[in-house]
Amino acid sequence: MAGIYIHIPFCKTRCVYCDFYKETDESEIGTFVKTLCTEAIQRKSEVPEPVKTIYFGGGTPSRLSKQHFEEIFETLFSRFSIEDDAEITLEANPDDLSEDYIQLLHKLPFNRISIGIQSFNDDELRFLSRRHSSRQAVEAVKLCQQAGFDNISIDLMYGLPRQTPGIWKENLQQACELNVQHISAYHLIYEKQTKLYSLLQKGRVRPVTDETSTEMFSTLIDTLAQNSFEHYEISNFAKNGLYSKHNTSYWKNEKYMGLGPSAHSYDGENRRWNMASLEKYTAAIQSGKLLQESEKLTFAQKYNEFILTGLRTMWGVDLDLLEERFGQELSGYCLQNARKFIREGLLAIKDNSLILTREGIFISDGIMSELMRVE
Ligand code: SF4
Repeated sequence: MAGIYIHIPFCKTRCVYCDFYKETDESEIGTFVKTLCTEAIQRKSEVPEPVKTIYFGGGTPSRLSKQHFEEIFETLFSRFSIEDDAEITLEANPDDLSEDYIQLLHKLPFNRISIGIQSFNDDELRFLSRRHSSRQAVEAVKLCQQAGFDNISIDLMYGLPRQTPGIWKENLQQACELNVQHISAYHLIYEKQTKLYSLLQKGRVRPVTDETSTEMFSTLIDTLAQNSFEHYEISNFAKNGLYSKHNTSYWKNEKYMGLGPSAHSYDGENRRWNMASLEKYTAAIQSGKLLQESEKLTFAQKYNEFILTGLRTMWGVDLDLLEERFGQELSGYCLQNARKFIREGLLAIKDNSLILTREGIFISDGIMSELMRVE
């Protein structure tokens, strides 16, 4: 079983912090959709069937029309074997989610909506150059619920310049009041090549301190736990077991195929990624080729990914599977390095899996790097 990721590389405007590949000229969407369908057909043999998840990410997939989605679904459902209960997610921006648009989405095969809200504070939304207001974000969630979507995720950001722990708490309270099933919350990152990064370089924004970041992460964990969310991955929280199946398959090292410019794929041995250029991607696919770069994972890289992705989740690193896949030497290496963290209460062994404790989550990067193997 596998997943299909579809990268829709269009956004109406650019958010100040974002380094995902996207274009703001939307006049090529129709051509892109046709090219994407051609790519799916060309690469069909790469995907072990049945397909259990399909994820439309971006960019802003909610810039596509009903006809665009129908064209893509027609290709996927006619060419691939897709599980009856496959999770089919659409990433959407609140400003695109009008009542009419949500109604049409509900008639399509989508059964999960992931809404890029980021903040319920209008000053923060303006700072991030998001296109929606707090009121629009609340309205979008309610309209999706009224239309019958019962698996809704929202994205939030914390650690923004000038964001206080109090404002962050208000954001979380508003999120909990909306009664959504899933929340992803990410600390702001100053990615190179973004406008935000150049503001940082010029000294025009000041990052929050490490203490404030830690306090916000702690508030996040506690507030969502009090509101019945399970903390199942470092940045992800779900109610009633409604984990993101698509993203969980990444963390469990399962195979997936990424379609569209800049999309990544994994076949169990190699990581491959399409060229991050709509123009070059289109020309290549239309001439029957694929413009990709790839990396064959070494044994040590596979071990490192197994540790890293496992520890990120509440399921942890399955120690039997670790030994089965990587042998006694590497599993012994892992446990030996884990020992001091177990003594300090930062790691624990539960049901024969190595997991981060609540204290360990706060310094997860340091712990992971100690367990990884340097080639
Ligand atoms: S954050 Fe989302 S909407 Fe904003 S520019 Fe990036 S991909 Fe587009």
